Amino acid sequence: PDRTQPPVAEPKYDGKPVAAPADATVLFDGSNLDNFKNKKWKLVDGAMQVVPKARDQFTNDKFGDIHLHVEWMVPVGMKGWHQQQGNSGVFLMNRYEVQVLNCWANRTYPDGMTGAIYAQQPPKFNVCRKPGEWNSYDIHFKAPVFEGKKLVTPAYITVIFNGVKIHDNYEIKGATHYRRIASYSAHGPKDHIRLQDHGNPNMFRNIWVAPLKMKLGE
Ligand code: MG
Repeated sequence: PDRTQPPVAEPKYDGKPVAAPADATVLFDGSNLDNFKNKKWKLVDGAMQVVPKARDQFTNDKFGDIHLHVEWMVPVGMKGWHQQQGNSGVFLMNRYEVQVLNCWANRTYPDGMTGAIYAQQPPKFNVCRKPGEWNSYDIHFKAPVFEGKKLVTPAYITVIFNGVKIHDNYEIKGATHYRRIASYSAHGPKDHIRLQDHGNPNMFRNIWVAPLKMKLGE
């Protein structure tokens, strides 16, 4: 958490929904929660909204290697600062978190910033748009491989945040834990995508997945 703050970079994303490519599967188009488990989250204006204390959201399906596109917004008027300013998260395989937070005019520790591999690796840049504006994540993720309980290949991730690369083939060190050195515990080849309820009514929209085409881990 004591590492230097990443520099601010200009977003290259205009806040419009990004069309899914032909080989994508749309998980959420704003009309229903059919592909998701937690029906307590609210449908609002083509988005799904975290209902604080209604707990996390999970995809019905499980995924391994993946290109995940998700757009998210922190509503205006969040009362808290630091980690209370629109905290949520996108968890790959239910355990590797890319942090969601508002870091536009909000400062927090670098490995807890927007786009951080939470508690592990700060983003290269702070590319946040303002609260009330949509942001986009394109997450390219290569799942870890285990043989029995032994890790054979770690997970790798490249993240494009509002059109700017903030992680480039980063080797994930293990599952997300708050201020604990990360380590791997063996798990299956696929698991659910999870969206975090951290007590803030963030919005998510236009969620789609496509086959991983980026070469990662090489
Ligand atoms: Mg979070």
